[in-house]
Amino acid sequence: MNVLDLSASEIVKNVKAKNISGFEVAEAYAREIESRNTETNSVVCINAQALDLAKQRDANGNVKGALAGLPLGVKDLFCTKGLATTACSKILENFVPPYTATCVQRLEDQGALVLAKLNMDEFAMGSSNETSFFGPCKNPWDLSRVPGGSSGGSAAAVAAGLVPVSLGTDTGGSIRQPAHFCGVTGVKPTYGSISRYGMVAFASSLDQAGPIGKNLADCAALLDVMIAKDVKDGTSLKRRVASMADLEPRSLKGVRFGRPKEYLDCDLHPDVAKSYENLQKTIESLGGEIVDISLPHTSLAVAVYYLVATSEASSNLSRYDGARFGYRSQKDVEGKPITDLETLYTQTRTEGFGDEVRRRILLGTFSLSAGYVGAFYKKAAQVRRLISQDFQSAFQSCDYIVTPVSASPAFKIGEKISDPLEMFKNDILTTPASLAGLPALSLPVGMSKDGLPIGAQLIGTAFCEDAMIAHGMTIESALDFKELPRVR
Ligand code: GLN
Repeated sequence: MNVLDLSASEIVKNVKAKNISGFEVAEAYAREIESRNTETNSVVCINAQALDLAKQRDANGNVKGALAGLPLGVKDLFCTKGLATTACSKILENFVPPYTATCVQRLEDQGALVLAKLNMDEFAMGSSNETSFFGPCKNPWDLSRVPGGSSGGSAAAVAAGLVPVSLGTDTGGSIRQPAHFCGVTGVKPTYGSISRYGMVAFASSLDQAGPIGKNLADCAALLDVMIAKDVKDGTSLKRRVASMADLEPRSLKGVRFGRPKEYLDCDLHPDVAKSYENLQKTIESLGGEIVDISLPHTSLAVAVYYLVATSEASSNLSRYDGARFGYRSQKDVEGKPITDLETLYTQTRTEGFGDEVRRRILLGTFSLSAGYVGAFYKKAAQVRRLISQDFQSAFQSCDYIVTPVSASPAFKIGEKISDPLEMFKNDILTTPASLAGLPALSLPVGMSKDGLPIGAQLIGTAFCEDAMIAHGMTIESALDFKELPRVR
């Protein structure tokens, strides 16, 4: 048995059956990271305690948890007690949190082990993982391409076989789009399902944690543990979806899949369009029904998203001022020691944040400013409601919405980074579900002519994760996507 070939669920089964110890699993993955991370730069920090911890747990005979012995990669945005958490920003370069994010804690309590912290766009702002303070992460299918973002490291690490499963976050597509670019599977649950406590905040009304794995069953196993009401997060919801621990594929007979006409007008790359067509045929051959629907406000989603997200970010990031924690500038622009508070703030924030983060703070501050809040932020909030209503009416005639994840497969490193609008437009197909707080998943459905993976997205009604994943599993097993990236 090669442990590196096992899915997360198989790892847990084998650890529980004592066919393999937690330590052996952790060590095998630690070795992969050690020897192969330089290819993709997916990992930004290794948990030096992980192997000792695995040994200790083995010695205590700890095989009871639902995730016993499962090594985990975690986006470097989740606070991990005693282990640096940087959001891949210079401003948090030396931040070691005194507590662990609720969702990570829940996974650890069930026997999972944080092996590594993973690369991402700085403060989760980006679609390509190029804005990371630790340098870009690369796509394991083609190292000259981006892995997507912002959870690029989380998708690339799973695809490259450095961790069996990982945690990402999705504010406007950051789980789904990297999963699509890297040929892996990701789920963004309903907003409020998983506690945001201990997640470095970007845009609080959108941020949502979720798993990235080799298949839907692995994602479901993590979701089952993470989804819970948390009193430490005011937007965490009590409503619990059904158990997802042992989901089985569910028949598509009579299930209606909406095909939004606006998503087809997005200049889809021919290979993406082809995979999407094949997927529709597969759905129909499985007894599902494809129905045409309309989401009329789709073209406004990117503008609305970038107003809401930047506004919230400008407020959330105001805490990084060099006074309490994180990076602090010592000298002013002239090289003299800083003696006043305003210079301390200005210099710290100028030096500590990268270009993209500064751009967004400026945009967000502008759209919230007294003279413009009505024209920008408030207007965006109103249109956000219309986008939500689009989904509500669409779900009158379908059970799920099926779409491509983004218009093209992974693009080249450097291709869009100097053109922020081009980069923002990449989010057209993922931001609508985020704005509406709806659950959505991305699973690999095909390959491009250039050998790059292509994913597709299912969007469901609030709290339908269990059914959506179970139905998704039927599609997944029919498609039987088995391609592996070149670096493996
Ligand atoms: N690409 C989007 C952005 O840059 C989404 C990021 C995310 O979901 N964290 O904001």
